[in-house]
Amino acid sequence: MTKFNAWNVIKNGLNGQSYWTRQWRDPEPKSSYDVVIIGGGLHGLATAYYLAKNHNIKNVAVLEKGWIGGGNAGRNTTIVRSNYMMPGNHEFYEHSLKLWENLSHELNYNVMFSQRAHVSLFHSPGAKDSVSRIYNIMRLHGTDAELWDLKTLKKKIPHLNYHNSRFPILGAAVQKRAGNARHDAVAWGYARAADTLGVDILQNCEVTGFTRKNGNIESIQTSRGIIKGKKIGFAVAGNTSVLWQMAELGNLPIESHKLQAFVSEAVKPLLDQVVVYGVGGAHFYISQSDKGSMVFGGDLDWYKSYAQRGNLPMVQDVAEAAMAIFPSLGRIRLLRHWAGVMDMTMDGSFFICKTPISNLYLNAGWNYGGFKASPASGWYFADLIANESPHNYVQNHNLERFEKGINIDERGAGPDPKLHG
Ligand SMILES: Cc1cc2nc3c(=O)[nH]c(=O)nc-3n(C[C@H](O)[C@H](O)[C@H](O)COP(=O)(O)OP(=O)(O)OC[C@H]3O[C@@H](n4cnc5c(N)ncnc54)[C@H](O)[C@@H]3O)c2cc1C
Repeated sequence: MTKFNAWNVIKNGLNGQSYWTRQWRDPEPKSSYDVVIIGGGLHGLATAYYLAKNHNIKNVAVLEKGWIGGGNAGRNTTIVRSNYMMPGNHEFYEHSLKLWENLSHELNYNVMFSQRAHVSLFHSPGAKDSVSRIYNIMRLHGTDAELWDLKTLKKKIPHLNYHNSRFPILGAAVQKRAGNARHDAVAWGYARAADTLGVDILQNCEVTGFTRKNGNIESIQTSRGIIKGKKIGFAVAGNTSVLWQMAELGNLPIESHKLQAFVSEAVKPLLDQVVVYGVGGAHFYISQSDKGSMVFGGDLDWYKSYAQRGNLPMVQDVAEAAMAIFPSLGRIRLLRHWAGVMDMTMDGSFFICKTPISNLYLNAGWNYGGFKASPASGWYFADLIANESPHNYVQNHNLERFEKGINIDERGAGPDPKLHG
């Protein structure tokens, strides 16, 4: 594997870029592995990497039915933040943000992490109080968090609708270390680093069934043959319930909903932060990509589906929210929009846990927020698989929490998966 460094960039620049090696191998599946991770999204790839790196477990395969990063990993709006307050969640997402801060060095791959600040607008004194509570808790934990008054906001982001908006803007809660990264670079970076440590990344390898023996999963049926794994991890995001039923485990407390994203033509630098607007039923978030496109999205499509495409009412909803808060967007042309399948849980928090099958481990329930979570998700899922017991931060992120009444409901939205954006 050619390392990315100044010397190799110059050498290859002078030699017609001909000495770069493949980023990862395309191996034939082995008949068995110590660990098989199903799902070649960010969580699956990160888990494989940390299994090899942190736990020296290198006989690992990642099985991906399509191409790596082609699911939600490649479809999201890439917002990275750690403005969570519930015990467990806060520590987990803050660790994730710290991993992001060094990820390009760690993987020797530029994931283009840009800490440009996450700016959550508020529109009433009540909303200010409520968001201040969260941001004060963050500060008590040592996480950066601040409030911007209207004067500061106008100076930093002059293009918002300050004069004529239905819900006047009063200020914003800000996390300056938050920002965006380049989604496919993260998938490729983890894949390349995991492959270098010996992990087999098997693309076009769809899991179609499981053979059970003595309560365990003995082997996995795939479109590339039968593969055995001493331990098996699910990291298939919106498809978790499908695989769960394939393993004859019944129903999961997860609903799969669609979330759309939108990207405009490229324009000159217009917005230097991630801005979030949510009031009166509207929900909208926007940033500008390094190529200049405006990247934005809103709420779920409000009905369950496994289709990776969205519907028109939500296009209208997002366009209305955009115009309410950022009127100059009305003159920008939309290039593309698409959807991904979200694994929404009953309390909006994730699962990193053991399952009723003793050699099967579950990583799921990322709702809208799994991109930012991917480094820590891989870290703690690998830790669980290697050590057989959950780390303190994720000890309540299990399937039993609903029976025990230990919901981790960050938004206080109640047991309705649609409301936990
Ligand atoms: C429009 C949109 C905007 C979002 N915005 C943000 C955001 O701004 N910030 C944020 O933090 N999060 C965001 N998210 C959420 C985030 O993208 C997801 O939570 C996260 O990517 C899920 O983890 P993953 O990357 O591992 O999932 P995926 O990339 O979906 O990986 C799962 C993989 O499993 C594979 N798979 C499924 N079934 C099988 C099978 N039978 N056999 C083999 N492989 C299989 C799939 O092909 C897929 O590649 C957004 C999501 C969407 C759709």
